Amino acid sequence: MSTPTLAVWKLASCDGCQLSLLDCEDELLALAGQVRIAHFLEASSDVRPGPYDVSLVEGSITTAEDEDRIRRIREESRVLVAIGACATAGGIQALRNFADVTEFTSVVYASPEYIGTLATSTPASAHVPVDFELRGCPIDRGQLLETLCALLAGRKPAIPDTSVCTD
Ligand code: SF4
Repeated sequence: MSTPTLAVWKLASCDGCQLSLLDCEDELLALAGQVRIAHFLEASSDVRPGPYDVSLVEGSITTAEDEDRIRRIREESRVLVAIGACATAGGIQALRNFADVTEFTSVVYASPEYIGTLATSTPASAHVPVDFELRGCPIDRGQLLETLCALLAGRKPAIPDTSVCTD
């Protein structure tokens, strides 16, 4: 059996959930023996092409480019896990969903005409089927490790149902 591949992706986010993964330094070393990290730009510029067995997606969809990326990530991933409040609920940037985003950009940017953004910030599940959701801001390090180990072992993650969606 070939070594399973793991990919980690960033959309609109602060990188905090990816840092939770990097914070698992010792456990990642053990995990590295069982999985091939094929795409994780926060940790390495060595990028391998898909398909991937497991993809972790951090961040929300806020641009047309994000919409294309999440569809491509879904197509290339056997299991897609949305990690953190941004990827599972739109994050703090979803405050725009209740206001006029053009008003925000005109106040914040000197040349708002160059800002290409969607009117809303939405979770990955609003665009593609998502296999698991890990909630939190940032995610819980223990739950992340358990999810990765379980998925790589082909079993259901043993974490509270309130933190993971298996629909
Ligand atoms: Fe950062 Fe929180 Fe979003 Fe994670 S969920 S990327 S910690 S803002």
